[in-house]
Amino acid sequence: MARILSTWRMSLEGAEKAQKLLNNNGSAGDAVETAIREVEENPLYRSVGLAGLPARDGSVSLDSGYMDGATLSIGAVGSIQDFAHPISISRALSKLHLNNCLFGIDAERWASANGFERINLHDPQSMKLWQDMLMKQSTPQVYKGHDTVCVIALDGANNIVVGTSTSGLFLKTPGRVGDSPMPGCGFYADATIGAAAATGVGEEIMKGCLSFDIVSLMKNGRTPQQACDEAVHQLDARMKKIRGYTDDLSVIAMDMHGNIGASTTIQNFSFVTPDEEGKLTVYVARHNEPETIYAPATQQWLDDYMAVRHAGKLEQW
Ligand code: ASP
Repeated sequence: MARILSTWRMSLEGAEKAQKLLNNNGSAGDAVETAIREVEENPLYRSVGLAGLPARDGSVSLDSGYMDGATLSIGAVGSIQDFAHPISISRALSKLHLNNCLFGIDAERWASANGFERINLHDPQSMKLWQDMLMKQSTPQVYKGHDTVCVIALDGANNIVVGTSTSGLFLKTPGRVGDSPMPGCGFYADATIGAAAATGVGEEIMKGCLSFDIVSLMKNGRTPQQACDEAVHQLDARMKKIRGYTDDLSVIAMDMHGNIGASTTIQNFSFVTPDEEGKLTVYVARHNEPETIYAPATQQWLDDYMAVRHAGKLEQW
């Protein structure tokens, strides 16, 4: 069963293209890259690619990861500026034998030398949000309500691939990377088991190596839903025990039969996947124990989501 699964409503248009590709015997790698490129080039979505929200110093830097479950090949870039499609760079790096994860200026040099498109990622509305935030706060707080696009694709040849792309946390310290370019944390795929990916506060997700943890739980017999809930709830409980709270995080997973799972610590985590009839659907999940609750998004929810973006506002969770 060829199936796409992706994080947040913003991935819908890309997921539509990717699902079509999979239905026409396209590869999981092409599906992941297609879906993520669509989000990267859409300036309405300010947490990925073009028009991404800036770091504290006003720079816009991007992180991305890619993993092929059949070969276990990994590629990742972190903290790169002014490239249109980090996911394509990550995918290209995954084809090399060594030197698969490149960060900062040397990643940019490699991408330039290998012909990847450079663009100015800055956008007037994102810069305005940055300026407003700086003016409001004497010590700017890192804004934690943010979204990474994560895509998992299972193809007809029985391969599974996962990819991520993000501009990271708004007002982050320049040079900071989160979980999204970190194998095992933001993404992991193994075509003998399945794949998982994460979005939310990277510093928290990395503490649990959440994507690898979920794939390991599936290896040990959990369904994708059980694996997502177990990994998230265990980390949540541990962090609350250590320091009284857990920063926001959400995950998705798929096994090799196309069964899916999602879990979250928040009340409003959206993801996209075909429903039982094969219709691509936006679901909204909310934190619940022992099992996450999710249902198709209402029209009102979908309208509100887009209205916030068209108005160039920040989403408040
Ligand atoms: N996980 C990303 C990061 O920490 C941000 C997000 O998904 O919201 O950079």
